[in-house]
Amino acid sequence: MCNHHHTSAPDGSLLVPGGFGRGFEAQAGQFITIVDLKGEQAGDFVALNRGDLTEILSPVHTRRKNLSIYFKEGDFLMSSEGRPMFEVVLDTVGIHDANVPACDPTRYAVDFGVPGHRNCLENMYEPLSAYGIDILQVPEPFNFFQNGPVTADGRMAVTDPISRAGDHLVLRALMDVVCAISPCPQDIIPGNGLVVTDMRVAVTDAKPNAQELEALKCS
Ligand SMILES: [Zn+2]
Repeated sequence: MCNHHHTSAPDGSLLVPGGFGRGFEAQAGQFITIVDLKGEQAGDFVALNRGDLTEILSPVHTRRKNLSIYFKEGDFLMSSEGRPMFEVVLDTVGIHDANVPACDPTRYAVDFGVPGHRNCLENMYEPLSAYGIDILQVPEPFNFFQNGPVTADGRMAVTDPISRAGDHLVLRALMDVVCAISPCPQDIIPGNGLVVTDMRVAVTDAKPNAQELEALKCS
């Protein structure tokens, strides 16, 4: 975990407060490291081609390419135009959701009777609105660390992530991208251990080494 030689994470990394959204860019060839700082926290993630915002990261196309509802190290996450957008370089968890939408105002207002609750859709729209897109153009997300088991007879559930403090995912961008991430504000039903916590994102030119990864785990 976070040893005493590292009292703070490296400059340039982005602390994403639990329940809020942040946007960031990465260039083709750069590495994106996403750390679940406290564990059991799902983070909704979307990405768009920086040069053509109509080309988006697509869970549907990714499932078809990988012939799986899951992805693993070495797999590609695909765009809506069938092109590889990210390579999965490192994954300490192995369970992520690519099946369900971001939580949105309706989810809380209608399903839980809590209007005005923070939600991943608006959290991701906030930073993306600077690029001139409409909220309806926020792509369907990958829900990193989210645990949505699918049984052999096709039933789905959402339960707490298996991720522990410091678990992380490293992606290599294969095109210039605009991204948004939202450590999910769901605190009504299981999905984040009922406690909403922070994540850290770092964009680097080189794949982070073990020492750099340790530093990024510092909250
Ligand atoms: Zn959410």
